[in-house]
Amino acid sequence: MTTSPQRTEQATGVIKQNKLEPLAVRLEKLGLVRDWDFVLHLPLRYENETRILPIGSLTTGASVQIEGTVTDQRFTHTNRGQQFIATITDQSGEITARFIHYYPSVQKQLAVGQRVRLYGEPREGFYGGLEFVHPRIKSGKTLDEALPQALTPIYPAGEGIQQRWLRKRIDRALLDLDIVDPVPKAILERFGLPGLREAITYLHNPPSNADVAGLQEHTCPAWRRLIFDELLAQQITLREMRAIASHRHSPKLDASSKPLTEQFLKTLPFTLTQAQVRVTAEISADLMTDRPMHRLVQGDVGSGKTIVAALAALQAIESGYQATLMAPTEILAEQHFNKIAAWLTPLGIRVTWLTGRLKASEKNKALEEITSGQAQLVIGTHAIIQDRVQFPKLGLAIVDEQHRFGVSQRLALRTQNKTDVAPHLLMLSATPIPRTLAMSYLADLDVSIIDELPPGRTPVVTKTVRLERKDNVLSVVLGSVAEGHQVYWVCPLIEESDKLDLTPATTCRDELQRRLPNLTIGLVHGAMPPAEKEAVMSDFVKGITQVLVATTVIEVGVDVPNASLMVIEHAERFGLAQLHQLRGRVGRGATQSACILLFGEDITPNGWERLKILRDFTDGFEIARRDLQMRGPGEFLGERQSGMPLLKFADLDRDETLLASAQIVATEWLRTDRARALTHAQRWFNTTSEFLAA
Ligand code: ADP
Ligand code: MG
Repeated sequence: MTTSPQRTEQATGVIKQNKLEPLAVRLEKLGLVRDWDFVLHLPLRYENETRILPIGSLTTGASVQIEGTVTDQRFTHTNRGQQFIATITDQSGEITARFIHYYPSVQKQLAVGQRVRLYGEPREGFYGGLEFVHPRIKSGKTLDEALPQALTPIYPAGEGIQQRWLRKRIDRALLDLDIVDPVPKAILERFGLPGLREAITYLHNPPSNADVAGLQEHTCPAWRRLIFDELLAQQITLREMRAIASHRHSPKLDASSKPLTEQFLKTLPFTLTQAQVRVTAEISADLMTDRPMHRLVQGDVGSGKTIVAALAALQAIESGYQATLMAPTEILAEQHFNKIAAWLTPLGIRVTWLTGRLKASEKNKALEEITSGQAQLVIGTHAIIQDRVQFPKLGLAIVDEQHRFGVSQRLALRTQNKTDVAPHLLMLSATPIPRTLAMSYLADLDVSIIDELPPGRTPVVTKTVRLERKDNVLSVVLGSVAEGHQVYWVCPLIEESDKLDLTPATTCRDELQRRLPNLTIGLVHGAMPPAEKEAVMSDFVKGITQVLVATTVIEVGVDVPNASLMVIEHAERFGLAQLHQLRGRVGRGATQSACILLFGEDITPNGWERLKILRDFTDGFEIARRDLQMRGPGEFLGERQSGMPLLKFADLDRDETLLASAQIVATEWLRTDRARALTHAQRWFNTTSEFLAA
């Protein structure tokens, strides 16, 4: 095969090899160090080299193996460079092999008169007949070896790591390693799973009559066994993390009377939904014990998580402790600060603002308030978890948009008080995390769900419209304003960065103003000074401004029930979760609201898929589930920051029942045979020990 990623292409098509790092380094990059790592390096797919087909019988569409004699060899010149072509003949017919890129040795291997064996997928040739492009070649002595009895595994491999070498190395590891099955027979029987050695051997060397579909789709018993072990290791790791955390103590936030909470609830212009009451009670009960709370509150956009967080903070404050609320972005944190300070300051509570962007003097003042214990609630960005900030009496840490933070940050928060006393931890997720994902990656958390929206909301109608038809959309805007409603117009993201949003936002507003000269149009973006931003928002809230042109600053926290239309320009450039959040800004009043997704003509298939999902679904959980399917858990959870070993083999949608089984066994093992459980986890994730030590 000649498809290594770092080749240097020359006009002739001949590949010049780059200098490679030492083999051990390259292997380590693939996670291949211990014998165990090789044994658990499972094939991506298989090739069937157990048969040789007559060339005359070949058709397109499947990979095959042929054997014959080279009867011709030549070069052709195309505008992409020189290609090498050989003809191979057997008694039944002939086929060409085309090489667009090739090592010089290929010419020798395919010299006229040579006997060769080729493996590849035939396709219609350029001049009629069939051809292979870049087939795999065997020649010389290897042809004397008997045909393999098993399907040939193809492994994930980096540059300069030969499949043949990898296969041998894995076979040796299989021989050397004493594969003791950690899972007792009784459990295997209970879940209908094969033994470990049996499963591993089958996956590395499946018999020629193996269930190929089951192998490819990871649904055969052998795959199920390995997936089970992987999920088991994950569940053990997370449960152990949790157990370690709960060895520590948290303060009992047991306010005997709650005058401030009562006063706060009285001043609210609405009553809590049943879901908010239930979740608040769950949190309150956790806070009253000295076992550290570790709870995630999930609720769709607009389900009212902020009040639930404020009530939890109040319980801490009324018990004489400090609380923090941390948000992943400056803008989000600022929205929370404005909203919550407006709620709590009238009750005589000191709410302090802390971000990395504060001027030194402001920052020192904030830090002083915190260390002196004056600050009762601290709201800000992750500046809060930086070392310098020492809370004398931190009782509760709240994290908004928890899925944007990683496991390691979760741990950092838990260890914030540098004593044995850990704060209780409450996490909020505005992007609902699908149940299976929560069950696996978030198994170290308790989960509360706000599954009810405040009353009086009508679902938003969503339409996708080509950007060329912007004129029609402008008349919809006019119509909406004529009915006395307000409109959000979200400007396109530029170069995938919402930091550089100044120019496009201004241009966007100017264009709209030119085309809708009779409307009052406001503009808000992230780079505006806070005072100016506040003034613009306040005009919109009061209804003075009819159309608000905005960047994604309005993604969170903005709440204007009279706004009933949202237009998102170049919606295909936004992520699903972000679009769902943006759309959540409308549909907050009793009137029918609409969201128009304007898309450009260069929309990608993926981009179009996202818009379709948003058009067809309003339920945040359903949207999140599809988002997860499209992106995979790594990106969905923010793998890079999390550092948590990701699942390599399990697919949470497909393997939900295996996950449930793994949860049962993990709990049982940690109770009855903790050493066995930890050994199993360590074997799977080399990195596990760091987590367990944290
Ligand atoms: P999210 O869950 O997206 O963070 P918010 O906490 O911002 O939602 O709440 C969305 C809006 O709903 C806010 O204007 C909030 O004041 C309002 N709200 C919250 N709870 C209720 C309720 N029980 N009844 C009516 N409105 C509510
Ligand atoms: Mg929120």
